[in-house]
Amino acid sequence: MLKVVLIGVFPETLLPYFKHGVMGRAQREGKLCIETCSLLDFSHGKHRKIDDTPYGGGPGLVLRFDVVLHALESISTKLSNPYVILLEAAGQSFAHDEALRLAEMNRPLVFICGRYEGIDARIEHYIDASYSIGPYVLSGGELAAGVIVDAITRLRPGCLGNAKSLAEESHQDNRLEYRQYTKPLEYRSLSVPSVLISGDHAKIAEARKKDANARDAKRQGNCESDSPLKSLRS
Ligand code: SAM
Repeated sequence: MLKVVLIGVFPETLLPYFKHGVMGRAQREGKLCIETCSLLDFSHGKHRKIDDTPYGGGPGLVLRFDVVLHALESISTKLSNPYVILLEAAGQSFAHDEALRLAEMNRPLVFICGRYEGIDARIEHYIDASYSIGPYVLSGGELAAGVIVDAITRLRPGCLGNAKSLAEESHQDNRLEYRQYTKPLEYRSLSVPSVLISGDHAKIAEARKKDANARDAKRQGNCESDSPLKSLRS
């Protein structure tokens, strides 16, 4: 089972998403367990302070080191050998190979989600990895943690309804998946490429390979070559 703990100011905001689809089933079948830990429970004084102004000046507020550390320590004592991940815009770019590494690790994952101007940088001494989910700034780390948990869960044994889906999925082996179509065969003058209804499995496999190559080329900044699976308006 993949055990996940989300530490943050509003970690519970993520839970509704995880009730549905692959993530919901994984939880119901005991393959995924997500818990949250609110920094507000580790706040100071009657005003429940969890943040303060940055030393050296500047705009906004920074989450306090002592508050985040107490939350992390209270969680860590309940887990065996947790792997602690900080979400930050300055972190390592999260990609498929990291998702695979985390999925295979079999350790509880603790995600520290920032808010406001981020977290006091001393927290760096208590983490195993720091990830960014892209070159842009989010309001909080919760969504970033959710993206990572989703990507990892799909790669865990038995979590996808059909394990075969993984084999051809985009970013496996650094490749993209071919375009897919379903019913209706024709709609608003757009038809499904005829090769897919030819019944010729060798031709279909060849067309899919060609399409995946064309999409790869486009991703790498090259011109997208002709593909038998591109939908054309009739
Ligand atoms: N002042 C910070 C900076 O310039 O890097 C941005 C803080 S951001 C408003 C608040 C929190 O959102 C961060 O502490 C981090 O946890 C999360 N966050 C923002 N962008 C992110 C990204 N691209 N990837 C992962 N987490 C992100």
